[in-house]
This record gives sequence, structure tokens and C-alpha cells, in this order.
Amino acid sequence: MTTQTTQYRLEQKRDVSAGFPGPKSAELAARRSAVVAGGVASSVPVYVADADGGIITDVDGNSFIDLGSGIAVTSVGASDPAVVAAVQDQVAKFTHTCFMVSPYESYIAVAEKLAELTPGDHEKRSVLFNSGAEAVENAVKVARIATGRTAVVAFDHAYHGRTNLTMGLTAKANPYKSSPAGSFGPFAPEIYRVPMSYPYREETEIKGEDAARRAITMIEKQIGAENVAAILIEPIQGEGGFIVPAEGFLPALAEWAKEKGVVFIADEVQSGFCRTGSWFASNHDGVVPDIITMAKGIAGGMPLSAITGRAELMDAVHPGGLGGTYGGNPVACAAALAAIETMEAQDLSARARHIEEQVMGRLRKLAEDVDIIGDLRGRGAMLAMEFVKPGTGATTKEPNAEATKEIAAACLQEGVIILTCGTYGNVVRLLPPLVIGDELLADALDVLEAAIRKVAA
Ligand SMILES: *Cc1c(COP(=O)(O)O)cnc(C)c1O
Repeated sequence: MTTQTTQYRLEQKRDVSAGFPGPKSAELAARRSAVVAGGVASSVPVYVADADGGIITDVDGNSFIDLGSGIAVTSVGASDPAVVAAVQDQVAKFTHTCFMVSPYESYIAVAEKLAELTPGDHEKRSVLFNSGAEAVENAVKVARIATGRTAVVAFDHAYHGRTNLTMGLTAKANPYKSSPAGSFGPFAPEIYRVPMSYPYREETEIKGEDAARRAITMIEKQIGAENVAAILIEPIQGEGGFIVPAEGFLPALAEWAKEKGVVFIADEVQSGFCRTGSWFASNHDGVVPDIITMAKGIAGGMPLSAITGRAELMDAVHPGGLGGTYGGNPVACAAALAAIETMEAQDLSARARHIEEQVMGRLRKLAEDVDIIGDLRGRGAMLAMEFVKPGTGATTKEPNAEATKEIAAACLQEGVIILTCGTYGNVVRLLPPLVIGDELLADALDVLEAAIRKVAA
């Protein structure tokens, strides 16, 4: 192997013997509740002091294993030495000039990298933004201008963000769009939702092509292909439950889109940048999106997002039609270039596949022993377990959100941070930093396995 190995600054060891939340975290929680809006919730009751590799330490001296990566962001770790050095170097020169006012090289260098790494060898153009939602909004803007059409097709279980347009594109009502107490609406018009391929929850087994046909028929009959600007889809759905569509689903949709002049947008905000064992999840299905949206893992924790698309689509927008004050901030661009270099130097796609082997080997055995794991799925280091009520896995597959919550809480108690997701709130998702060491990951899996066995018993 010629790949570099990760150098850690913090000891890669779980230790919550100080107890938590400790006094310093408790004090911060009190200050927070006096000034931070209650609408922002945190999964973990401790406050961070430091983070490196697979470890997050809190202000009271506890060390947690991080299986969430700040929601798939810190794939190279939260303080990758290359990212830290690049940020320090850039921040000492200039923090901002605004690319729309006085441009700089690193923005161009990131666009060059994206042209090289995203699927397809056609001519590409990129624009940089700050958040995933902003990338999705702009992909839709481009598709509408380029096609002269307005309808956007999104899928069941989709998650695309929290701004007005992306809330509308997101499927799940509570907590993203509303709660029993009220709604964030009205939502943007011209958004249409069609069925996803969700192999575990199909009434009867259905091939990917047929699941695509089901969605396409709905589009043709209820919207009209000639009105559709874009199909927007996550190649592996994130917040919706790490749903991997049946083989053939994505290629059939992409093929139809091409035939009808519909822009095929892959939202790879969560699945991109080595997370699934390839640069992009679209690669696994041999799909070449017309526009791809990226964020999360792109810049080693710094806020950056991007859209990369076919030159003729992207250049259909008039000068000044795209942009934003902070989009492609120079410090974030420097971080992205360094993070991508780390992904290449340490072959983090291979690391993601290695993590998949380690995790799935363990969980497959466990799934035979307990009767609440309904489904095991995912790719690379984007893996999930869907929990069902005892004994319903082969019949009604009744979602078990209670067990899911208990498992996450039991893991946290032992010092392992795991995230949940899913339309039914019954999915545990694993998103470790790709630089996590084998031993630390094995320790986290011991904890997770014990938690699942305890809750299942
Ligand atoms: C997280 C996410 C978004 C939104 O990204 P933000 O940076 O939170 O705005 C959009 N799409 C997908 C698939 C995501 O996972």
C-alpha cells in the first residue's frame, strides 16, 4: 500500500469516566437556554472541547467515539492537519474579498477539481455556495432557466434542506416543515412528489426499472414531461433513512430524463466525497447526472457547497444570475483543496469500503440473533439499520422508533455518538469519519452491539 496513514493528535480512546454532562457542560447548557432559540436542538448533552480522528472530547474531559462526523461532514477528521494548515495559511492572507467583486485562484482550483472528480467526461462548469440547501436551490434555478420549464420532481423520503424551496422539496413534515403546533409554510409551488424505490418497504418485490416506470408514469400522467425542468434525487437517501434504491432505478430515471429534455439532478450533499466508497454514490449505478449538488464532506468541516453541471446548462444563466456574498469563500476553498488532497493521499474511498466490511460483517451476524433489525443497508461508510417491532420483520415490518431511540441513548451512555434518521424515526445510521482507526471502530461496534442486544432482550 502506498497510501498515507492518518496521524492523530488526540489519543484515539473512548473514556467517559469523568461522567456527563459534567459541571462545565451543565453550565454551558444553562447559558444556552437563556440565549439560544429552542428550535435548534442538539443530540448530545455535552459541549465540545476538541475533536480529531474518531474522537470528540468534551469540556469536562470525556472522550466520545464519533460515528456521526457532524452529519457526514468531517470525513477527513475534524482537525485534519492538511486542512488546518491550509486554513491557517489562507486566513492570514485574506479571509474574504467576494468572488463576485475581486476573484481569486482557489475558487477556480476547486472548480477544476470538481470537473475532474464528478461523474462524466463532458465539459462542466461549477458554482460555489455555502450550504447544501443553497446548492439545491441553485441547481433548480439553473434547470429552470436552461429548460424554460418550472416543475420539479422530488421523491418520497427525500431530504433537501431547510430553506423555503428545499423545505418544499423535503418529504418529511415533522420536524422539517411543520409540527402539530404549526407549519413553516406556505411552501414553494411547482414541486411534485413521486414514489421512491425503497426495497425493504415495497408491498411486493419490484425491480428497479419497474419502480422507475411507476414514478415515470406518475410524472407523465400528472405533470406532463414537457413541463418538467428537473428530477431531483439523492442516489442514496440520507435523512429519509439511508435508502438505497433497487438496482436499475437510477439509470432508468436518468435515461428517461435524457429522452425528455429533463435535467437530472443528483443531490450528493450527504453521499459525496468518498463517503460511499467512491467519489460519488452515482458512480455505483453508472449514472452521469446533468447537475450534481455537493456540500457536507467537501471541505473538511468548513462551510462550502457546490453545483457542477453540463457546460451548456450552467452557461444558460446570464452573468450575475448566480452567486452570493460568501459563496466560495477563500478559507473554505483552501480547506476543500486540502481535504480533497487528503482523500486522494489516504485513498479514503478504499477506507470507506474497508469500514463497510468491518461493520457489515459484525451487524449481519447480529441481525441473525435479534428480531428487531428489519433491514441492514448502505454503502461504504454510509450504513444503516432499520428497526422494527419484535417479530414483525418478516410480516408487517412495524417501525420501532422507541427501540431506535433507546439504542442511541444506550450508545451515548457508553461514550459512542450515533445518529438516527428515517421517515419513521426507526433507523440508526453510521457515518464515522473515514479516518477512524480499526481498533476504535471495533470498540464502538462492541458498544453498539451490546446496546442492540440489551434493547432487543
Ligand atoms: C444535509 C443535506 C442537505 C442540506 O444541506 P445543508 O448544508 O444543511 O443546507 C441537502 N441535501 C442532502 C441530501 C442533505 O443530506
